[in-house]
Amino acid sequence: MNKVFVIGAGGVSSVTIHKMAQLNNDFNEIVLASRTIKKCKDIQTKIKQKYGVKITIEELDADNVKNTSKLLKKHKPNLAVNLALPYQDLSIMESCLNENVHYLDTANYESKDEAKFEYKWQWDLNKNFLKKNLMALLGSGFDPGVTNVYTAYTKKHYLDKIEYLDILDCNGGDHGQPFATNFNPEINIREITAKSKYFSNGKWIYGKPLSKKISFNFPEVGKKNMYLMYHEELESLVKNFSEIKRARFWMTFGDQYLNYLKVIQDIGLSSIKPINYKGLDIIPLKFLKKILPDPGSLGKYTKGKTCIGTIISGKKNNKDKTFYTYNICDHEKCFEEVGSQAVAYTTGVPAMIGSLLILKKEWFRAGVWNVEQFDPDPFMKLLNLHGLPHQSIELKTKLKF
Ligand code: NDP
Repeated sequence: MNKVFVIGAGGVSSVTIHKMAQLNNDFNEIVLASRTIKKCKDIQTKIKQKYGVKITIEELDADNVKNTSKLLKKHKPNLAVNLALPYQDLSIMESCLNENVHYLDTANYESKDEAKFEYKWQWDLNKNFLKKNLMALLGSGFDPGVTNVYTAYTKKHYLDKIEYLDILDCNGGDHGQPFATNFNPEINIREITAKSKYFSNGKWIYGKPLSKKISFNFPEVGKKNMYLMYHEELESLVKNFSEIKRARFWMTFGDQYLNYLKVIQDIGLSSIKPINYKGLDIIPLKFLKKILPDPGSLGKYTKGKTCIGTIISGKKNNKDKTFYTYNICDHEKCFEEVGSQAVAYTTGVPAMIGSLLILKKEWFRAGVWNVEQFDPDPFMKLLNLHGLPHQSIELKTKLKF
């Protein structure tokens, strides 16, 4: 009997729970715990109506290790799936160590007080997970997640050596709102307003946020402006593929989105420093999150497609080769299947797949791991089966920019 304990009941979690309920023979029991019980109830009702599957729900503030441990002790799951926010990673990992539960997440740890994300704190727990013979799988979403698997797959099947890695994340969808983010607004805005950073010849090169722009013609989406920025998977990929000379991450943004973002920054609404208003300490970015549309509610309005993938150049039999591996995901089709837009779908499906591989012990080693450290083939096979098929094409030359 496999029992999973999913934490967080937002956009991504809803997709993962739908996908787990579709595979009720593998995910025999599902417990959903989150801070706002109403959101758990809504998902519970939808899953019962759609699939006839009963999930158990619990109220939980996962910042509190004692309470999380208590619920893990009560339910005794095999695996905890952290789909709350990056702030909870360390406290949930600690609770898993307390109660001997395997762990999975989709985003690396970030402290609430400083917009700085890195793997160090989670990698440092490797010895603790090893000692308990437990596994932690980090970053099993799309990026990080599928893009790391694409990198491992390209190396395994097409190249002897990777030299240049570019991750291209395009959301060609339109939700018709003046300004909204694709996933949690607080985490999203912290990420895109950070300094840009890429890896080149053993060093990290820093630049102003979103200062380098390139126009790229994305398959099935068309020409879009994409911007150089830092994304967490670069850290693990250059560590795990030490031959990489250059690794960069690009994301598309429309002009209107960037204009709004500039105003938000200029008037101080993206700040994470508390301000005192009538005796209350208010964090401007948290306040902004409250008034922006909930990304989970955008599904029914969003049209268009996402195209996320890797362009990787390197050597095969001493010849230069370049491969583009990508997925196209249609917002409306996602909504039809699970009631969510494609950004939540492309993250929620890989979280289910990582969980499935751990439960089936196809991907299983004690310790703390990133997804590219496992055989990519079973993950790629499941992506094709569960709604995120890929295309791999050979390009004539490496990227010129
Ligand atoms: P949402 O804000 O929609 O959902 C987050 C959920 O976590 C909410 O239900 C929230 O509860 C709950 N939560 C927050 N804090 C706590 C807490 N202390 N204890 C218990 N529950 C809590 O976010 P998304 O679904 O958009 O994103 C989920 C995760 O996925 C994030 O970590 C995000 O960074 C990651 N992500 C990863 C991607 C990838 O490709 N790898 C892409 C997109 C997202 P409440 O309703 O009370 O606020």
